[in-house]
Amino acid sequence: MVNVFVVSSVALLLVSRNALALEKGEILDMSYDFGETTLYWPGGGFDFTITVRGPDGTVPWYEENKFAAAEHGGTHLDAPAHFSEGKLRVHEIPISKLVGPAVRVDISKQASNNRNYQLTTKDLHDWEGINGKIPDGCLLFVYTGWGAFYPDRLSYFGSTRDDTYLDDQGNSLYQFPGIAPEAASWLVSNRQISGIGIDTPSVDYGQSLDFLAHRNLLAANVYGMENVANLDKLPTTGARVHALPMKIRGGSGAPLRIFAMLEVNDYATIQPIIAMIFSVSILIIVFHYLKQ
Ligand SMILES: [Zn+2]
Repeated sequence: MVNVFVVSSVALLLVSRNALALEKGEILDMSYDFGETTLYWPGGGFDFTITVRGPDGTVPWYEENKFAAAEHGGTHLDAPAHFSEGKLRVHEIPISKLVGPAVRVDISKQASNNRNYQLTTKDLHDWEGINGKIPDGCLLFVYTGWGAFYPDRLSYFGSTRDDTYLDDQGNSLYQFPGIAPEAASWLVSNRQISGIGIDTPSVDYGQSLDFLAHRNLLAANVYGMENVANLDKLPTTGARVHALPMKIRGGSGAPLRIFAMLEVNDYATIQPIIAMIFSVSILIIVFHYLKQ
């Protein structure tokens, strides 16, 4: 009987821990601020001009600003049309594709040993071996650990050059991890993801010159998300993500406000109650036998 009590206590502990992890209800902000420090590919930048800030006309205080920016910088979305003729532009992506369950594939260990590491199909198979099949309609995030460097240009891009990404020989100056073209190809052929995000400047690794991961993904109308923030805090599964780009008509990309909420399903809500009923029942049985 003592053994049963020990087993039930351990079960209660495990069930409660699981429930606690799902009960947080917090919102995870996965966008960086847009401002002076926002990182862009060469040629891009965020211009912010204060038009009015102070007493104005008939009111004691008024603020208004102007901004201008390249599409592909900071936390942003890559529309399929970015690298694929005839594919969806930003305003054409169905809003239903911008919300979905999040899965996170962690390659931070590999990337810490090799800053030019590319996510492989084997990494995806390994992930599925532990977590099950990558669900349809999900937003898949590749966690490289590069967010820790943002917005330091040298450590994030691997170069301080912001005027070009090519050296004199036509090779890329940039070094950061990404997604291997073959893994991108496997994903779009074998799984039904809506979008793919990464915590680096590009879904292709920094050394890429053909941008083949981009081309393989976007040709299948899978959109990209780059410079995604706080991937270290995103759980492997169990979160729901809302990835909302500015709805630029004809845009090839757009600044992205993206956030995740931990999914609290009905089972998670009743888990603690089930655990409590289970434990009380065990206690009643224990006392019943002790009394005899
Ligand atoms: Zn982009």
